[in-house]
Amino acid sequence: MAERVYLDWNATAPLRPEARAAVLAALDLVGNPSSVHGEGRAARRIIEQARIAVATLVGAQPAGVIFTSGGTEANALALTPSIEVGGDKTRCDRLLISAIEHPSVRSAGRFPAEAVEEIAVTPAGVVDLPALEQRLGALSATGLRRPLVSLMHANNETGVVQPIAAAAALVHAAGGIMHVDMVQSSGRIPCDIKALGADLATLSAHKLGGPKGVGAVVLGADVHIGDVLIRGGGQERGQRAGTENVAGIAGFGAAVQAAASARVDEAAHMAVLRDRLETGLKAISPDAMVFGAGAERLCNTTLFAVPDVKAETALIALDLDGIAVSSGSACSSGKVTPSHVLAAMGVEPGLARGAIRVSLGPATTENEIGAFLKAWTKLAKGLSKGRTRGLAA
Ligand code: PLP
Repeated sequence: MAERVYLDWNATAPLRPEARAAVLAALDLVGNPSSVHGEGRAARRIIEQARIAVATLVGAQPAGVIFTSGGTEANALALTPSIEVGGDKTRCDRLLISAIEHPSVRSAGRFPAEAVEEIAVTPAGVVDLPALEQRLGALSATGLRRPLVSLMHANNETGVVQPIAAAAALVHAAGGIMHVDMVQSSGRIPCDIKALGADLATLSAHKLGGPKGVGAVVLGADVHIGDVLIRGGGQERGQRAGTENVAGIAGFGAAVQAAASARVDEAAHMAVLRDRLETGLKAISPDAMVFGAGAERLCNTTLFAVPDVKAETALIALDLDGIAVSSGSACSSGKVTPSHVLAAMGVEPGLARGAIRVSLGPATTENEIGAFLKAWTKLAKGLSKGRTRGLAA
């Protein structure tokens, strides 16, 4: 059987060898990291090493890292009215999110539906900063004192990078708190929480080459979550109960270290291949529309549509040719409803239904991009034959 070509790294990245080795080694540790004996302390050491690696990636203190079961749980933990900053327990009275957030942020954690508001994005898929500023001003005029604002650093579907530092400056000027979902950006672009102005951030291991089912909330200095999501033992400094996933956390830490040390080279490699992909695509299908092309994007992501090409049909044809891509976000794969991200960008629903996401990784090769373009040529030829027979739909 021909080799498969995996171009769906935003859904999940293959495990990095360093992460695999760390997971396997940790699986053989018998101790519970909360136990005081030598076996327990050995497991604890693995967790604390990973905590340092994750903290270093985002410029935080290790004590600010709370390990969770992934990005979804981390978002659920972070989105609470009860976030204390510098000992101030004033509750957040509003949650503002952009219209392109991941479903785990759109579900709003512990905020009641009536306290959640959406901020628009521009047609390029960038959060509308004047709209955010205006909304923050209107809220403070009505006496609401402490909004929590949650924005993603990079969008999982388009790859568009959001102006987090500028947004955070507005949020802080309005007395608010800034949460940043860094699930897609971490390991790909700089993610220093201080430089970005993030009070809290969310990370997930499997997007940067770690195992699935492990992630973290990172808290800035003096930030504390007042009402935790999972109660029980006092693990993770009382912020997330339950015996830690030692092997998963070990793999997370190793993946973070590998991603951080190779980031600049990996990004340059992916940028070249992504540009080759988009140039090739336009040569085959000149009417291809790349979403978010006018904005700063992650160097690995292309979300595009070609009029009259249905995403489901294209995905199946590409899969039969050995190529794995996705339509919109992984969570919405299999759903025919157009993506909320493209709807928020004002993309016409017919075109949005054809959106195909190709996402590359550090191990993607020039040959794989060539294989994608070859398969796309075949698909486009089939389509134009259908068109001349009046069959395209
Ligand atoms: N946030 C973003 C931007 C994502 O892309 C994802 C996963 O697709 C998540 C959060 C959820 O992360 P996890 O899969 O670890 O639950």
